[in-house]
Amino acid sequence: MKIAIVGGGIIGISTALFLKQNSNHDVTIVTEKTTPNTTADGAAGIWGPYLLDETPVPDQRRWAKETHDLIEKYWTSAEGGLMGISLVSSTRLNMEQIPPMWHDIVYGFRKMDQSEVKAIGRVNGEHNASGKRRVMGRLGVRVSMFKFKIQASEVQKSKKKGNKRLIRPQDTLFAGGGKPPKASVIFFHLFPFFLREFKQRGGKVILGVKVSDLTKVGQNYDLVINCTGVWAGEVAKDAKVAPVRGQVMRVRAPWIYRVILDDRDDGNYIITNQDSVVLGGTHQYGDWNTRPCEKDSQFITSGCQTMFPSLLAGAEKIKDWVGLRPGRSSVRLEREALTASNGRKVEVIHNYGHGGSGITIFWGCAKDTFKLVQEVEMEQGHDRMRFITSRL
Ligand SMILES: Cc1cc2nc3c(=O)[nH]c(=O)nc-3n(C[C@H](O)[C@H](O)[C@H](O)COP(=O)(O)OP(=O)(O)OC[C@H]3O[C@@H](n4cnc5c(N)ncnc54)[C@H](O)[C@@H]3O)c2cc1C
Repeated sequence: MKIAIVGGGIIGISTALFLKQNSNHDVTIVTEKTTPNTTADGAAGIWGPYLLDETPVPDQRRWAKETHDLIEKYWTSAEGGLMGISLVSSTRLNMEQIPPMWHDIVYGFRKMDQSEVKAIGRVNGEHNASGKRRVMGRLGVRVSMFKFKIQASEVQKSKKKGNKRLIRPQDTLFAGGGKPPKASVIFFHLFPFFLREFKQRGGKVILGVKVSDLTKVGQNYDLVINCTGVWAGEVAKDAKVAPVRGQVMRVRAPWIYRVILDDRDDGNYIITNQDSVVLGGTHQYGDWNTRPCEKDSQFITSGCQTMFPSLLAGAEKIKDWVGLRPGRSSVRLEREALTASNGRKVEVIHNYGHGGSGITIFWGCAKDTFKLVQEVEMEQGHDRMRFITSRL
């Protein structure tokens, strides 16, 4: 089949790659932008289900696990370091019930005991934008999560009994011919690998095209896959899609190795990347403003400083950045038959609305999209057969 994928973010690219890895379809990505100008390029880049609202939990879990399995496979491959994948010990202050549904997907999940939570309360504190501290009365978990861009020195006890993994900084920092990582500000290592493999397998990319009508694209293809992120609201005329604005700040603070996440709406997070530390962040529902604003920068610095007092003295600010998470009550992964103005039926598969979890569930969603592609292929095959037999 001739397939167009509209959207060149992590969802479009991974869907395109999955199709090329598993079929002989003729696949073209048609997109306005791609890396390094997509939402995932600037995101904090940690694996962890977040802001998926009413997306059915079994789906969330399956997609997250498929993606975790893929990342784990890459991490243990020769190119894992070049892809920027690291396993880091993370402290997550959770809004969900404990244990969360993903507890047995990650390594070494455990609930923090009261004294640890108290210690975080003392050291990190619950805070507001003015930086005031209060001792947390909430539940926290310690867990080792995959981080796509950072390097860390950690000894992790694997969930597989007796299997200890030692990740030393020199193993990851100097992977790839002994060269230190480039001092680039924005990079998302998986993208180049995915795009390169997609093209090597015969995939095509048409850049700089703004699609306003999926049925028009469908005139030249057997199937259109819609991966337009937060812009799907317009493209698919879906009123359920809304931006969840996220402002973050990158600083150079090489003494920070920790990941601390506070899941509340007004919670902050500190996520170490290879050459910078991402400080977050905001979750502003319905806000389309992609310009960083000073008030949010102050909220970020004061909140993160309160969580980790040694964070900012001596740190060099690199930049502020804003991205729009594709918010939706639930991820939309389903088929829709549209009718073009000339009456022609256009088969569409939607794959958008991944909220704050696109980097966490992309591969599972790509796999489910592929199953729908197979369904369409079967039906179109049957239609062709019916057409041929009716002419015999
Ligand atoms: C601050 C921040 C931090 C985040 N941190 C994490 C994290 O740690 N972990 C995690 O899992 N997730 C995180 N996320 C969420 C994650 O980044 C998103 O869920 C994910 O990037 C969405 O990917 P996407 O491909 O659907 O959308 P996008 O990356 O926005 O891509 C959409 C694509 O569609 C194209 N497009 C749109 N409209 C059209 C059109 N009309 N015609 C042609 N092309 C079009 C765009 O050019 C773009 O290529 C974060 C997000 C933000 C903002």
